[in-house]
Amino acid sequence: MLKKIIFAILGIVIVFAGVTLYFTMSAKTKQPKAQQQNFKIDEDKAIKNLSTAVTFKTISQEKEKDINYEYFKEFQQFLKDTYPEIYKQLEYKEINDYSMIFKWSGKDSSKKPIGLTSHYDVVPVAKGTEVKWQEDAFSGAVDEKYIWGRGTLDDKVGVIGTLEAVDYLLKEGFVPPQDLYLFFGHDEENGGDAGAAEITKYFKNNMIQFEYIMDEGGAIVNNMVPGVEDPVGVIGVAEKGSATIMLSVEGSGGHSSQPKNKTTIGRLSAAIAALEEQQFTASIAGPTKELFEYTAPEMSFGYKYVFENQWLFKPIIKKILLGKPATAAVTRTTIAPTIFKAGDKGNILPEFAEAQINIRVMPGDTFNSLKKQVNAIIDDKHVKVTITGNEASAVSSSTSRGFKMIQQAAINTNDQTIIAPYIMIGASDSKHYSKISDDAYRFLPIEMEDDGLERMHGTNERVEKVAYMKAIQFYIDLMKQ
Ligand SMILES: [Zn+2]
Repeated sequence: MLKKIIFAILGIVIVFAGVTLYFTMSAKTKQPKAQQQNFKIDEDKAIKNLSTAVTFKTISQEKEKDINYEYFKEFQQFLKDTYPEIYKQLEYKEINDYSMIFKWSGKDSSKKPIGLTSHYDVVPVAKGTEVKWQEDAFSGAVDEKYIWGRGTLDDKVGVIGTLEAVDYLLKEGFVPPQDLYLFFGHDEENGGDAGAAEITKYFKNNMIQFEYIMDEGGAIVNNMVPGVEDPVGVIGVAEKGSATIMLSVEGSGGHSSQPKNKTTIGRLSAAIAALEEQQFTASIAGPTKELFEYTAPEMSFGYKYVFENQWLFKPIIKKILLGKPATAAVTRTTIAPTIFKAGDKGNILPEFAEAQINIRVMPGDTFNSLKKQVNAIIDDKHVKVTITGNEASAVSSSTSRGFKMIQQAAINTNDQTIIAPYIMIGASDSKHYSKISDDAYRFLPIEMEDDGLERMHGTNERVEKVAYMKAIQFYIDLMKQ
């Protein structure tokens, strides 16, 4: 009898090991083979142009009245002076004075066009951090290895990189197979309502619907995915929505010498504590699931074993991802209480208390479904809940021609790189553009330094010359496809 049981257990173990090993070993790569590129770019010219672009203080200040649009005009003039061929051969249009559209007519205009977009406004340098910059933020300084300054990553590198590529191709006499639009917004860092939203309106009014649009987004980063040694470039196929949950409690107030057991502040605090305790439901679905489908075949054995057997290890994977804020954010709608207001005198109970929670909404969650969850978690009908803001974007296809073209161009340029879809946590102008395009992809073809993401809106923003050259090659390759 005992022997039989032991054999049975042994049998099950062997079957399990067999099945899991089979899934691990049979994982097929989702990366195409790199094709040779042979572009001879004038590096000095390209570097000088990005460096000069940085010197224009096209800053999206928090308050509209603080924005100096003179610099935006000067930047536009700089583009006209620098790329005369582009202005001669492409149709040019200004939208809302400062945003720009270029149309490059292709061989077959009956096909849906492709849109390449970036923005040329930049975030300000935080007060007090100026002295920490190794080079002045708007100097555009160039040394052996880097180009320095605001916008070298976010996102003048996209604007100048694209224009350098077009300039190169025009000199070659290249005509794109289908119409190609380039458009550059001027207020992405403030939400894109004056730029991207107006550009979107223009295309809508002219009944132009895109096959796909590529905007800034995920970059090529080291140590991004556990178990993958090569750098991983991530293409945002969706972006989370950014919204506000407003919680408010109205009470009777009164003197603080005879308080009720439940005060407005008490109720509101309890509500927030409950939300933090419970959190929204996490899942490995959509773009996050796809991220691991694309990267798992490239992982070292141990990780591959786990990630190729999600049917078995899903709870463990979830636990790993929830362990860090950055990875937790790709599994669920996040909650971040940012404003709490109640009371203004030490001995008076406030009659009103309110709090704002910034949430980043996963595709799949809606304001409606979230509100239901919030009410259930708080379970206090005295707390009023409203949600306003942007819902999550639609999810673009990762099997479309557009996705494959971007992936191929990225691998042609950086052949050691793994390219995968993912969900973008931050917001971009694509939230507007996705309304006029079948698919929207968010990808910045730049290989980042390890601390590059911190530099982006922080101190000492800079781009490696080599990475910038590769970005231009990427744009050329993509347009050629
Ligand atoms: Zn940006």
